[in-house]
Amino acid sequence: MNKRIIIAGGGFFGMYLAEQLSLLGHDVSLYEKEQNFMSRASYNNQARVHNGYHYPRSILTALRSRLSFPRFVEEFRDCVSSDFDKYYLISELLGKVSASQFRLFCERIGADCDYAPARIEKLVNPQLINACFTVKEFAFDSFKLRDIMLQRLDAAGVRYHCGYSVDKVESTGAGIIAHISKLESGLTESYYADHVFNCTYANLNYLLDQSEIELIPLKHEMTEMCLVDVPDELKSTGFTIMCGPFFSVMPFPSVGLHSFSHVRYTPHYEWHDKPLEKYHNSYSKFDEDIKVSAWQYMLKDAARYMPVLNECRYERSLWEVKTLLPRSETDDSRPILFRPNHGIKGFHCIMGGKIDNVYDAVEAIKNINLI
Ligand SMILES: Cc1cc2nc3c(=O)[nH]c(=O)nc-3n(C[C@H](O)[C@H](O)[C@H](O)COP(=O)(O)OP(=O)(O)OC[C@H]3O[C@@H](n4cnc5c(N)ncnc54)[C@H](O)[C@@H]3O)c2cc1C
Repeated sequence: MNKRIIIAGGGFFGMYLAEQLSLLGHDVSLYEKEQNFMSRASYNNQARVHNGYHYPRSILTALRSRLSFPRFVEEFRDCVSSDFDKYYLISELLGKVSASQFRLFCERIGADCDYAPARIEKLVNPQLINACFTVKEFAFDSFKLRDIMLQRLDAAGVRYHCGYSVDKVESTGAGIIAHISKLESGLTESYYADHVFNCTYANLNYLLDQSEIELIPLKHEMTEMCLVDVPDELKSTGFTIMCGPFFSVMPFPSVGLHSFSHVRYTPHYEWHDKPLEKYHNSYSKFDEDIKVSAWQYMLKDAARYMPVLNECRYERSLWEVKTLLPRSETDDSRPILFRPNHGIKGFHCIMGGKIDNVYDAVEAIKNINLI
């Protein structure tokens, strides 16, 4: 039987799930807090379409990425930028993986990996880099992705609203009452739903805290992703050094620049949500944070490995709260979080650690007999 469904959070996950559920004939309303869809983590990220290479310490995550990569690239062909060469460099001195281990890992997950051409090897410091590999990894344009998802929501008949915050859910016995406030006017209205999906990523525990439901353990990082103009010889290339306190620089198609992240300097600080402990709202923390760029530190370290990076021109930074499951700290895995009927029957919390995890999210909700 078709259900009335409310989805909190208009990032890529909320939009995608809204469309899928509506196509099944459910009556779906999607509420987004910001004035635009996909303006939080689904925009403020490195835009990497993962193809497994990034996860030599979590073979399961790597294999899941290998499955979702061709599917995402095919489904969102017009949003995916594949017109650049991607290189993974291995630094054994501080790294957690050797060149031969990385090759073997790529073989195991069936991912292309060849030695990079000599002109690429010439760009790196041979005292710090042991091997350079050409790999197949792409980037996505999140503006195009958002526009395509909006068209798909229209086609699927989803009702969607920006500037609305889902603040609280309550059980009515038969279903759920969701209290939703319009941010412009401050007015709150209450709506009935059979199911409410919480797709609010860094803000996931806000709705739980407000509804007096036990918090889900989450780790948050205040992150800085720099946007830079790279020298001409690097324009159609991207580089990632594996696997340790290194950096990634790769095309960021939405604005025609390169994103620049550093494992040591992109996260500025971290905090945890824990059940039965006082809740600290992630977005309030974000709003109050005094953002001082670590670009100079990122550059100074990265240029030791690739001196040509000294010619990058810093443009600006994207700041965002990055949210991870606590277990990702130890093995760097990116499983989805799925808590069906969390605290209230029909209230489901869902979060993915990377964009292509959305396919795992769709699989997961099959367990609640809606798909
Ligand atoms: C620095 C960084 C780098 C990353 N790099 C990559 C990468 O290269 N590749 C990759 O695949 N993934 C990457 N990720 C992860 C990826 O960004 C996330 O997995 C993905 O964007 C999560 O999508 P989402 O829709 O769950 O979250 P979001 O896009 O954050 O969407 C959640 C939405 O919920 C809204 N919201 C919050 N509270 C409420 C409320 N109460 N009511 C209504 N709406 C609400 C928010 O405004 C937001 O729009 C990165 C993340 C970060 C932060």
